[in-house]
Amino acid sequence: TSSSSSSTIVLVTGGSGLVGQAIKSYITKTNNSDDNNNNNNNNETWIFLSSKDGDLRDRQQTDAIFNKYQPTHVIHLAAKVGGLFANMKQKVEFYRENTLINDNIMENCRIHKVTKLVSMLSTCIFPDKTTYPIDETMLHDGPPHPSNEGYAYAKRLIDTMNRAYAEEYGCNFTSIIPTNIYGPHDNFSIENGHVIPGLIHKCYIAKKENTPFTIWGSGEPLRQFIYSLDLAELAVWVMREYHSPDPITLSVDESAEVSIKDVAYAVAKAMKFTGEVIFDTTKADGQFRKTACNKKLRSFRPDYKFTSMEEGVQEAVDWFIANYETARK
Ligand code: NDP
Repeated sequence: TSSSSSSTIVLVTGGSGLVGQAIKSYITKTNNSDDNNNNNNNNETWIFLSSKDGDLRDRQQTDAIFNKYQPTHVIHLAAKVGGLFANMKQKVEFYRENTLINDNIMENCRIHKVTKLVSMLSTCIFPDKTTYPIDETMLHDGPPHPSNEGYAYAKRLIDTMNRAYAEEYGCNFTSIIPTNIYGPHDNFSIENGHVIPGLIHKCYIAKKENTPFTIWGSGEPLRQFIYSLDLAELAVWVMREYHSPDPITLSVDESAEVSIKDVAYAVAKAMKFTGEVIFDTTKADGQFRKTACNKKLRSFRPDYKFTSMEEGVQEAVDWFIANYETARK
């Protein structure tokens, strides 16, 4: 394939985050072996950026990064991300900062004739009023939930512009749509983080202080979670093998949907927490389910085996305990 030349340089924006660090572990995992199982099997040079390497909201700083590294491939993860509260309060910043970052990256990829750009969408930018399961074709079918419309429209424009860049300039830009991601290097903030890292942090405190492990809501809602290392492997596959501007959902099967209750008990087990588990039903549950369809992924990767929830949660818990001092929380 075009990506197997010796001069392949892959630039990963947002390389210090949850997904970026997972791609780094995936790529370096079997790097020392000389058999064909080496995940970096194409003589690729990988560069993982953090915001310390430059502010991607700034055009000149972004240009400098592209001039310095001359990437042939870009996996674009960097984004202003946040919880519900932040999204509601700062719609302007979520829209503008993400739009600036995405425009700087796409325009540089065009100018530098990058062979492949893979950007990140999210299932949370889909229409608020929709039918389930949602698939890739339904992205623009109605407005997103008002709470995160700044973030959602900035992300949706990535998809629009991937097609525009293909039509007008022949660029090979695409995007992936992950469901909820979790794993090592996550943001474990209880207030601002996502559900799994939040539960891990809460359970850690409950164990340390000998208090009950309290989960907000009934625990009944269902969600699809993808372990960050699985997402990393599939994102690298998309970069190397999937060539269409149309997005592809990277999610576990519909049958692998789990309840928040299942997740909470998996966290308690991984943490070896033996105290009381309480579901505080005075707190809101959120949407009951928002199933994503992974048929498109399955048409390419029918046999891909996802990491089980038990295994993935154990890895995330072990990482959090081992890195408690420095983890984002
Ligand atoms: P993280 O919050 O873990 O990481 C964000 C990354 O972006 C960090 O490396 C951060 O750098 C970098 N970054 C943020 N702002 C800037 C900036 N102005 N200039 C340069 N770098 C910047 O994010 P995730 O790994 O969780 O998410 C990666 C992508 O996946 C995002 O696009 C997100 O929207 C998407 N996504 C995530 C989901 C999830 O469940 N986590 C679900 C669906 C989509 P630094 O570390 O230096 O601050």
